[in-house]
Amino acid sequence: MATSLPFQRALVTGGAGFIGSHLCERLLAAGVSVEALDDLSTGSVLNIEHLRGNPLFRFTVGDVRRIADLAEAVDRADAVFHMAAAVGVRLIVERPVHTIETNLEGTTNVLECATKKRKLVLVASTSEVYGKSDKLPFHEESDLVLGASRRPRWAYACSKLMDEFLALAHHRESGLPVVVARLFNTVGPRQTGRYGMVIPRFVAQALAGEPLTVYGDGSQTRTFCHVADTVEGLVALLAHPKAAGGVFNVGGLEELSIADLAARVIAGTGSASRIEFIPFEEAYDGDFEDMARRRPDLSKIAALIGYAPKRTLDDIIADVAAQHRTA
Ligand code: UDP
Repeated sequence: MATSLPFQRALVTGGAGFIGSHLCERLLAAGVSVEALDDLSTGSVLNIEHLRGNPLFRFTVGDVRRIADLAEAVDRADAVFHMAAAVGVRLIVERPVHTIETNLEGTTNVLECATKKRKLVLVASTSEVYGKSDKLPFHEESDLVLGASRRPRWAYACSKLMDEFLALAHHRESGLPVVVARLFNTVGPRQTGRYGMVIPRFVAQALAGEPLTVYGDGSQTRTFCHVADTVEGLVALLAHPKAAGGVFNVGGLEELSIADLAARVIAGTGSASRIEFIPFEEAYDGDFEDMARRRPDLSKIAALIGYAPKRTLDDIIADVAAQHRTA
């Protein structure tokens, strides 16, 4: 099947992960041949089980930190979506060495392999790079405000920021067609709450009738984005000839506090759960620092590809709840 996209064969690193698996699905639906590469550390074969019968889909167990696992897979593709990373606040706090090494070495390898063959590359970055900036909404040209290096959370932001610098350096030095996407709190079916993510945790708690655990006083805000909108943005970005060398926010529209989120999850699931406030020191070990507010400025990606998220927060809660009910 011919695709309307400027690539026929895509490699998705982290393809068995939450966002990666949705991306594979979206690309396959467009007629693109897809290879998912994943070391199954935080990803799961369950996320891609439904794709395994598709003749256009191929799954390879491999680690982006090992060139041997990566080089041939990059050769086989004409576009690479580099989604593999150590993610999730809990994992980052508990395994800081693993986080830094996975993010730096993985991206170094992907960019090196892609540069040799001038493949199209998208590097998934994160809104964490904005850190505790209080200039809302966050624009791609804004200053980035990170905290002290003794707090492990900032190692994640910093490792992803180095990934961005490296991607842009390859673009500058050798013309590698690479796009950086800063993802803002992507949520939806198949995301696990195991690594700390708030919406799957709240939904599971609400459905079980347990208290929803709001960390801190719940006044911190986030802007959530349905994974279907996120992957739509990623595919359109890599398909656009003018995106190369650019950094783009990809996120949702509604900024709300975590306390309000808990109330929305309770209402959306018809739960009788109550809300329990837990101090940050109890929720996370020691030197933890949370971001007070987070909201993307989406004007750059809207201007280039007409990006406009279609799913609301209530759609997200309904989709996540539906998945939890059938799991
Ligand atoms: N959070 C919470 N209860 C939980 C899990 C997370 O109140 O059970 C809070 C967390 O402290 C943060 C927000 O929800 O303020 C979003 O957390 P998540 O880990 O999903 O994403 P990130 O912090 O990376 O934005």
